[in-house]
This record gives sequence, C-alpha cells and structure tokens, in this order.
Amino acid sequence: MVGAGIGGVTAAVALEQCGWQVTVLERSAELGEVGAGISVWPGAAAVLEELGVEGVAKAARLGEAAGMRRWDGRWIVEAAELGIELPVMLHRAQLHQLITDRLGPAVTIHTGATVTGLTQDADGVTVTATRVGSGGAASGEAGAGGLEPGSAEYRAELVVAADGIRSGIRGLLAPEYQGPRYSGYTAYRGIAELEVEDSGGETWGRGQRFGFAKLIDGRIYWYATANREPGGADDDVKTLFANWHEPIPALLAATPNVLRNDIYDLPTPLLPFVHGRVLLLGDAAHAMTPNMGRGACSAIEDAGALARVLRAGKDLTAYDAERRPATTKLVKRSHQIGVLGQLDSKFACTLRDAVLSVGGKTAGLLAKRRKVEQSPV
Ligand SMILES: Cc1cc2nc3c(=O)[nH]c(=O)nc-3n(C[C@H](O)[C@H](O)[C@H](O)COP(=O)(O)OP(=O)(O)OC[C@H]3O[C@@H](n4cnc5c(N)ncnc54)[C@H](O)[C@@H]3O)c2cc1C
Repeated sequence: MVGAGIGGVTAAVALEQCGWQVTVLERSAELGEVGAGISVWPGAAAVLEELGVEGVAKAARLGEAAGMRRWDGRWIVEAAELGIELPVMLHRAQLHQLITDRLGPAVTIHTGATVTGLTQDADGVTVTATRVGSGGAASGEAGAGGLEPGSAEYRAELVVAADGIRSGIRGLLAPEYQGPRYSGYTAYRGIAELEVEDSGGETWGRGQRFGFAKLIDGRIYWYATANREPGGADDDVKTLFANWHEPIPALLAATPNVLRNDIYDLPTPLLPFVHGRVLLLGDAAHAMTPNMGRGACSAIEDAGALARVLRAGKDLTAYDAERRPATTKLVKRSHQIGVLGQLDSKFACTLRDAVLSVGGKTAGLLAKRRKVEQSPV
C-alpha cells in the first residue's frame, strides 16, 4: 500500500480482512489527518460498518436536514422540500482514527517512507522507497544492495497506490496522463466552537459559497469558496463573507484557524484503475472537486469494492469495471456543480437560483412520492 490517507488505511483494513499481509508506506512522518470536517455518505458508511469500523453508522441517525440559501438568507430550497439522504459529519482526524483503530497485526505501517520507484514482472512488484530517519534496514526489506543509504526495496504481489491527487505512482504508470486540473476557485475551511440553532446547509452568492454542518461532537464545520488564481494570497474570510446572513459572520468570528486549499480534480477520461498488479485507489485514481463531499467516500467505497473482488476470486479488472464508471460520473457532476456554484454575474446567478428553486422543489416532491409508493401498505 502506498499512502495512509483515508483511502490507504481503509484499503489496508479491507485487505487484511481478506487474509493479506499488508505493508503501508507513508511519506509523512506521522500517521493521521489534518483538516476540518468531512461528510460520510450512506454508501461509504455501509462499507465502514461492513469492515467493523465503529462509530460512523451509529452517528448517521443524528443528522438534520439542511437547505440552500442566497447570500442574504432568502431560501432557494428549504430543508423540508429537499427529500435527500444525509451524510454523517465527522472531524477528519476522528474518521482516520476510527479506521486505523480497526487495523490488525497483519498490517505494518512505515511512516517517513516515500515511494520513488516501482517495477513489475510476472511474479510481483518491486517498490523502492526512501526512508527518513530509518538509518538502517527497514522491516520487510528485501536486500538493499546498490540502493542509496536510507533506501529500501519491498516485494509485493499487489500494490495499491493510494498516494493522492498528485500520485507519483500514477505518474510512473502513465507519464502521458495530464495532471490535476485547476477548478478556478479556492476553498477555506474551519471548525467553529459555537452553539447555533440553525441546521446548516449551503449558501450561494456571486462567485462565492459558504456551507456549514454540525459535527457529531457538536462543533460546527464550515467551508467556503471564492474564485481565485491558484497560489494567490490568503483572503480574510471574515471580510469576504461579512455581509452574508447569520450565523455565517458569527461562525467565522468563532473560528481560531482557517485552512486554505486551491481546488483541483483529475480530468476525464480517467486512467484505468488497474495496471497489471498495481491498482489506483482514492484521489490517485479519481480526485474530484469537493462539491458533492464524495472524494473520501469514494476512496472508502473503492476499498470495499476491492475486498469484494478479492473475496470472490475475480480478476482485478472487475475492480476497474465497477469503480471507474461510478467515479467518472462523480468527477463530472462535482465539476459541473462547481461551475454553477461559482458563477459570478448577477444575471446568471439570479437565473441559476430560480432554476434551482423550482428544480429542488420538484425533485423533493418526486422523492417523497417514490417513498410513499415504496412504503408497505
Ligand atoms: C476542501 C475539501 C473538502 C473536502 N470534503 C470532503 C468531504 O466532506 N467528504 C468527502 O468524502 N471528501 C471530501 N474531500 C475529498 C477528500 O479529502 C479526498 O478525496 C480524500 O482525502 C482522498 O483520500 P486518499 O487517501 O485517496 O488521498 P490523500 O488523503 O491525499 O492521501 C494520500 C497519502 O499518500 C501519501 N503519499 C503521497 N505520495 C507518497 C509517496 N510517494 N510515498 C508514500 N506516501 C505518499 C500522502 O502523504 C498522503 O498521506 C474534500 C477535499 C477538499 C480539498
């Protein structure tokens, strides 16, 4: 396994439960996640439950419906009209911890290990990594003859590349594939320590959006976007949203730290997820903009699909056949939502909000009708 983000650790749990010995190589010096909140949708929560990861599915029942507003607080679609499934909201670090708690003795994790090379032959894959501060042989190392000091070689039957959107393994497998594509906007995130009555949701303005939700520990996770060049100076988010409806200014005032990420995704068509004995998983395979809150969920679902394929003794290409079409749809839809959400002309935004209002109400009504038709008499 290359990478111990949410995708990598979930896949490690899944592979171990399929009876594999797993070695995880992680570049960072420490295991864990930084960041703010994360949404876990029912499909990913079900995979975690199946893997025995506790604490996510239970929390799913605590969610409240959330609606969509204009910057001044007028509703585009109210919560009750939406009729949608809700995600569980957790802190990223908590989700990562809940998953790693499920790792057993067949998983060895090496932190400070950066994978730099990979070769495949008929019997397996040889992975080269440089180790920071190892000073000697790494466990699992298969003879380091000719390697630089601090380097190690690992031999594996299967390599899962869960090394994120800028995946070095993907670059080795397909150097011709165009790298990440900039979305045109940047995202800000934070955790506010504040009691609010409001059940959250998203607010769309001109070239800016703001969303918030209660985490299962009671704190409020918020995120915001603004059209920007990549790598520009940080905005003062309080000023950016100063005249938006409450509780937005209050949440920003109650946030000690703000994170910024320029938003990228991978252009479609996505590369195949299976290259001989090397698989791409998570953002390495299908990084998407965060507009649907599905990137990490998809990584978790990849791990679930991989486990099913291995258990059924199917060819690895079954993993690609299941996951590439599903995630391609999400990459495309997330991109389109971003384009719509970041419109900034007054005319286009007025039209967009009107269409969303009618569309949201209609979709809500249809969802309710489906539920009535499906409910037992
Ligand atoms: C602003 C924002 C909000 C988001 N919100 C949500 C949300 O609410 N819900 C949701 O489902 N998703 C969300 N996402 C998406 C989600 O964060 C990602 O899809 C998810 O974290 C990807 O996990 P991963 O394990 O595939 O990759 P990563 O988390 O990127 O992990 C890759 C790991 O590989 C390691 N690595 C990289 N290169 C090497 C190497 N050469 N050798 C060894 N290790 C290496 C890295 O150090 C890292 O630990 C959001 C994303 C953003 C930017």
